[in-house]
Amino acid sequence: MTPSAQAGIGFTSLRSRARMVDALRQKGIRNEAVLAAIQAVPRHLFVDEALAHRVYDYKNVSASNYQAALPIGFGQTLSHPYTVARMIEILLDRRAQLGKTLEIGAGSGYQAAVLSHLTEEEVWAVERIAPLLARARQTLARIPEVRVRLELADGTLGWPAAAPFHSIIMAAAARQAPAELLSQLAPGGRLVLPLLSTDGKEQYLHHIERTPRGFTETRLESVRFVPLLSGIAS
Ligand code: SAH
Repeated sequence: MTPSAQAGIGFTSLRSRARMVDALRQKGIRNEAVLAAIQAVPRHLFVDEALAHRVYDYKNVSASNYQAALPIGFGQTLSHPYTVARMIEILLDRRAQLGKTLEIGAGSGYQAAVLSHLTEEEVWAVERIAPLLARARQTLARIPEVRVRLELADGTLGWPAAAPFHSIIMAAAARQAPAELLSQLAPGGRLVLPLLSTDGKEQYLHHIERTPRGFTETRLESVRFVPLLSGIAS
């Protein structure tokens, strides 16, 4: 491909991303630092080339049905840009930076890349499916400004060697917040995750903050995520 054709693709994806960011703003994402991080990450690199044209399709932006999300293989999906933006906005809250950050369920690596734009400290991301992790590693290596430490691990256990974290984000739904993640949260740190309702039929975003006295927990809007599974899959 000629350099000018490559530049053309870069320009098109920048413009498509700007439209996607406008759509996110209209849907209620207010944090400009989060929107700038989304603008900066080349989302099309995180899916198969055949699907790349769909990643900026903003009809997709706010769909809450995860069946409509883009497949990344192994039965997993790339989260909608709205979901990514919303979760990170909640995670950041009024802080200027995320600080040391842990992501459970790295999948394609897209959300980890967005997170890395919001902290000068390290982003650690774990994934339990080996081939997905390998692909995420390859993709992230193509984006030099992004620094993420990826590991094949059961995220239910967090990443004890790197704890404590100022921010933890989980991209898969569980019945309750894993105890290890709570214990790896720094004082004042935040955890954002989807949790199942007691009847197991619904999922809601929750944020949990570590206070000097313990933890405060707030339930937010309903969401749809793949389940958190235990163990590692090769
Ligand atoms: N954040 C991803 C989307 C993740 S989909 C992205 O931006 O592309 C949720 C991911 O969580 C899946 O890849 C799934 O394999 C992973 N997952 C589920 N349970 C897990 C666990 N216990 N530990 C680590 N990863 C897990």
